[in-house]
Amino acid sequence: MTHTLTLTSTVYETSQLEELTIPQIILAGRSNVGKSSLINCLAGRKSLAKISSTPGKTRSLNYYLAEPEGYYIVDLPGYGYAKCSKAERAKWAALIDKYLENNHHIAAAAVLLDSRLTPQKNDMEMVSYFMHCNIPVIPVMTKSDKCKQRDRAKVQKQWQEIIKIKPICVSSKSGMNRTALLNLFLKTALPTYEESAKTDEE
Ligand code: GDP
Repeated sequence: MTHTLTLTSTVYETSQLEELTIPQIILAGRSNVGKSSLINCLAGRKSLAKISSTPGKTRSLNYYLAEPEGYYIVDLPGYGYAKCSKAERAKWAALIDKYLENNHHIAAAAVLLDSRLTPQKNDMEMVSYFMHCNIPVIPVMTKSDKCKQRDRAKVQKQWQEIIKIKPICVSSKSGMNRTALLNLFLKTALPTYEESAKTDEE
């Protein structure tokens, strides 16, 4: 199966938001959690998403089309960046709210969590927010190459107790669980994809 991710649009203002009819998987996580690296890793490209040297700089919704399957990975602006002004914070909260309000094809939100950190308050708030919106949460632990399996398992268990779902551990550096995550996204966004692909072949 060929798999490509293409950045199809970037949205900065609520007025630019359109209602989408194809399924979407949200990718959310605080600045520096490794979101850009993960997008590049999933795409198999080095510079599709900008790897931020200045955390919190990117304030846009970025839509990546996964083909040939036909679903979007929607990169949500980073959150939890201390140096951001109140006005900026309010602006991107409004953008996220409007996006969530207008879209009825959001299959899940993959919430990125740093493998090296015990559950953080703002990560928990993000998880609660999606749950409150009735959006299924896919917990993803990033930078898994950076910590020992034993320490990672501890954090994984802590999250599992909070969310009731076991996080998937990934590493953009080693490629750990890249395919597993893509398969999980596909299964979640398009649950009948494999069957319809088979039927098309017959
Ligand atoms: P973003 O702000 O969430 O988009 O985070 P970036 O993708 O820009 O990553 C922040 C920093 O973490 C960069 O220095 C990356 O090189 C590093 N990083 C991201 N993912 C990984 C990973 O899986 N393993 C390791 N070792 N470093 C990572």
